[in-house]
Amino acid sequence: MVLATGGTIAGSAGSAIARAYEPGQIGIAEMVAEVRALGLDAELIPVEIAAIGSQDIGWPEWARLHAECRAAQADPAIDGIIITHGTDTAEETAWLLDLTLAAGKPVVLVGAMRPADAVGSDGMRNFANAVRVASDPQAHDRGVMVVMGDAVFAARDVRKAATSSIDAFKGFPRGPLARVTPSSLDWFGPPDRTGSLARYQWPDTLPRVAILHAGAGMDEMPVQALAAIGCRGIVLAGMGQGNAPAAVLDALEATRHAGVAIVRSSRVDEGIVERNLEVDDDARGFAVARALGPAKSRILLMLLVASGISDPAEVQAAFDRA
Ligand code: ASP
Repeated sequence: MVLATGGTIAGSAGSAIARAYEPGQIGIAEMVAEVRALGLDAELIPVEIAAIGSQDIGWPEWARLHAECRAAQADPAIDGIIITHGTDTAEETAWLLDLTLAAGKPVVLVGAMRPADAVGSDGMRNFANAVRVASDPQAHDRGVMVVMGDAVFAARDVRKAATSSIDAFKGFPRGPLARVTPSSLDWFGPPDRTGSLARYQWPDTLPRVAILHAGAGMDEMPVQALAAIGCRGIVLAGMGQGNAPAAVLDALEATRHAGVAIVRSSRVDEGIVERNLEVDDDARGFAVARALGPAKSRILLMLLVASGISDPAEVQAAFDRA
């Protein structure tokens, strides 16, 4: 089953050399017909969920994707699920679905860095690679994956690490799970989520959780503003080890006392944020994101708050397990 949401993979510039383009212009039926013509051994069923740039994706599309994935996972006639998606927020959708779906039947997000009519477009190749992954029996029990640039990444690890190159996606702490081309697929290890059920229930709604990007010289006012608009959680995209000026940390601590869940992550591209290294998390009531970056920390914190979890020890346990 192919669930289409739009993005650059369905984008068109109207010229092979133009810079500007519109995402989500090409219908999924047309894209699927092109992939079928490649001669891949798969029967593709297209379903259009949306035709948008993934910067605009949110609750309505996520709820529909989740429901369609659950139905397809339960349907014995379907072997795998592909979601065509913009690359800007692919890691967020992948992680949200990974946390809320059973791991069994493969769910594979795929996108493109170049629009479909650009010279050297990567969309059809990525799509063909995604078909190969989603139809492979060894793709089962690995959770949600993202296929980009001839690599397969797990939702937990993947992030967009460059604005425009076709190998823009990287993995941390794990690199790719596999290398893929339209004619080959090499897994680097066995499935690691065998028998894993959905880790979180699909929520009725997602609470407001914000990311606060720390900067030198920042004061407490942005924290107070986030509390004033009713944020139920704040993810600090902190400096280095998830750090921030003392005034910001003090304001976050005060906000924590008012019942807002606080998670410290890092604005640095890669690494682990550890507890109680430079910041006294025990005393301040903070949790740390460990290997998750700010965007994925926000997704997990939204699910936790939606499940009634905001106690720092319980939030920390969930991030330790992620
Ligand atoms: N803004 C686009 C999107 O995320 C970029 C892309 O797809 O590469 O939908």
